[in-house]
Amino acid sequence: MFVLPDLPYAYDALAPVISDRTMRFHHDKHHKTYVETTNKLLGEAGASPDSLEAVIREARSSGDKKLFNNAAQAWNHAFFWVAMAPGGAGPGGDLDAAIKSAFGDLGSLKSKFVEAGAGHFGSGWVWVVADREHSLQVRATHDAEDMVTQPGLTPLIVCDLWEHAYYLDHQNDRKGFLEGWFDHLPNWAFAAEQFDAARHRGEIWRHPPPAAEPDLKRASAG
Ligand code: FE
Repeated sequence: MFVLPDLPYAYDALAPVISDRTMRFHHDKHHKTYVETTNKLLGEAGASPDSLEAVIREARSSGDKKLFNNAAQAWNHAFFWVAMAPGGAGPGGDLDAAIKSAFGDLGSLKSKFVEAGAGHFGSGWVWVVADREHSLQVRATHDAEDMVTQPGLTPLIVCDLWEHAYYLDHQNDRKGFLEGWFDHLPNWAFAAEQFDAARHRGEIWRHPPPAAEPDLKRASAG
């Protein structure tokens, strides 16, 4: 059974770009329902996997659209929460250099991100990802489409484009939401960790975190 993760900050921590009220609906209702539906579908199938990533990949390859949509949305929202941080600093170090290399500067990345998100038809997500060459790209995906099933792409940050993410606070002004979001809410420290892991074959963020590997050395020494 997968568990709805707690928010890593208070409900009102992202205001005024995302209000307390939006966060309560978004996390406590929408995200919770994706997690519960995933568990229900797995329970009906008699499955109890530990890895949500494995569920998403298997649902994709077997064409189980309902399970894919709910499991991917459970993952995407967990990633979205950690990809935001109130009052964080801008990107630094290698990530800053990669942004300059791919886009020119942070303002140009913002323009591209906002344009991709505001121009995206219907529901979905807008991401900054690192590709196999460790170059950065902006990608928009439809509905529950995720990055778990995109080989070679490591997500650094994401913003939710579903109306439930912004309508209470910004009504139909998705562009205004994205501009405020990009200026105030990306967790660049987390993005830098993801970028570093992608470049150096480190631990990419997973949800839920994998169970600790048994300490074989210690076991055999005992
Ligand atoms: Fe959402």
